[in-house]
Amino acid sequence: MGTSHDLIVIGAGPAGLVAAWRAAQRGFKVTLLERADHVGGMGASVEVAGIRCDQGSHRLDRATPEGLLRDLRTLMGDDLQLRTRSSRIRVGDQWLSLPLRVDEVARRLPASLLARIAKDSTTMSFRRGSEESYASVVQSRVGPALYESVYGPLAQKQWGMPGENISAEQAYRQSARLSAWKVAGRAVGRLRRKKQQTASGYYYPRNGFGELVEALANAAVDSGVDIRLEAEVDRVRVYEDEVEVGTQDGDVVTGGLVFSTLPLPVLARISRPAPSLTSIESAARLRYRAMLLVYVVHEGGRWSRYDSHDIPDPRTPVLRISEPANYRDNPADPDDHSVLCAEIPCSMTDEVWGLDDESLADLVDETLGLTGLPSVNRVHVETRRLGQVYPIYRLGYENDLAEVDAWARMIRRIVTLGRQGLFIFDNVHQALLMAYDAVDAIRDDGRFDRYAWTVARERFSRS
Ligand SMILES: Cc1cc2nc3c(=O)[nH]c(=O)nc-3n(C[C@H](O)[C@H](O)[C@H](O)COP(=O)(O)OP(=O)(O)OC[C@H]3O[C@@H](n4cnc5c(N)ncnc54)[C@H](O)[C@@H]3O)c2cc1C
Repeated sequence: MGTSHDLIVIGAGPAGLVAAWRAAQRGFKVTLLERADHVGGMGASVEVAGIRCDQGSHRLDRATPEGLLRDLRTLMGDDLQLRTRSSRIRVGDQWLSLPLRVDEVARRLPASLLARIAKDSTTMSFRRGSEESYASVVQSRVGPALYESVYGPLAQKQWGMPGENISAEQAYRQSARLSAWKVAGRAVGRLRRKKQQTASGYYYPRNGFGELVEALANAAVDSGVDIRLEAEVDRVRVYEDEVEVGTQDGDVVTGGLVFSTLPLPVLARISRPAPSLTSIESAARLRYRAMLLVYVVHEGGRWSRYDSHDIPDPRTPVLRISEPANYRDNPADPDDHSVLCAEIPCSMTDEVWGLDDESLADLVDETLGLTGLPSVNRVHVETRRLGQVYPIYRLGYENDLAEVDAWARMIRRIVTLGRQGLFIFDNVHQALLMAYDAVDAIRDDGRFDRYAWTVARERFSRS
């Protein structure tokens, strides 16, 4: 297959790294092009005040399949730790542990809210039926009381629109979270035997989540992958027997097959032959939420004993505050200072996007005050701006995605994968598994088995 390279992978996030590594292990000649000056995409860590911090709260799901875990352990050894979660969520004026603890829910929430939650749990089945939006699905699963106090405000913050304007698909993808509340609601209503706590625990690398993607990058390089950083792809041209991929600095790489983890609308914009006008218009309607990450350095030891705090409270745009050093057991983390990472989902046209570091740190301070969290002894602040973080599943997005995806599936020699490439709300283990499947679909003669890939994608859409 191909001329100069068998496989060109665009994007060195978790999906691109694994795809490149696995294909090189199978003997293909692989080039990986990455826009940033580092690997890892959203899974990369950054160093702030000598502490490795993630791009928002990142955990490797406990549900990661054993085969994938084995591969990661081979690369990372004991550095991949199994950790107990110590998170909290603000409900009303109380902090509740995550995973939820029924006794705590019963003790902390006001009697009026508890009564509503309990009542909702008894009538849950009567509300099924009209599941046409995020709001209606979530209300049918956990009841109006929890929707109003937790899920509605969270949705508004995370996606910048009310739950009524968000597709039901978003709720289906959050079913694990929803069932945790359902269990709690029912137990509170004494309709089921008490289940004290939902499943807990996650995997996390000793040196920050970025250690995982760095391990993948090292494995890829050891297997012969040519990783090119600061190589922003701005042209993809498909010919009969090869694909030409151009970067902003004028480099051109040719290959027989391209795996693209580029955002789907970007691929539609830079591909030649160009998609139809209808596909271009649909692609333009697929939107992503942006995110500000505000890293505040706290002097005087750890700021809290929790890894993260989820904040539905509509009075602040901050969605979550995490403390990276609490995600792991690493004696090398300093004990005289710590870092808080505040996540602020937003649009790049929002006023908050343009605030300077100190104003953003003030916003974090204000959030701590509003939610009863300890104040921070701030000695430094720095900010990162991520332009495309969450795909926004607004009502009706399915039609636009189907149109663009149908075009993308038809392009010869190009395969789209990963969070941005498929416009899905996936987690790292899912992005990795997807890359495994994509590489498995390459036949030994270099041809890509579209049927095998379609079957794999079907599996992901149901997971
Ligand atoms: C705040 C936050 C919290 C999260 N928490 C978790 C969690 O707890 N657990 C979990 O499993 N997952 C979590 N995720 C999701 C996880 O980060 C993603 O699932 C994962 O990063 C997807 O990997 P990817 O390779 O598909 O995409 P990305 O990580 O987005 O990688 C895409 C890569 O493509 C590169 N690229 C883009 N354009 C170009 C271009 N033109 N040319 C070349 N390269 C380009 C980008 O620079 C990037 O490196 C979280 C995400 C966010 C934002």
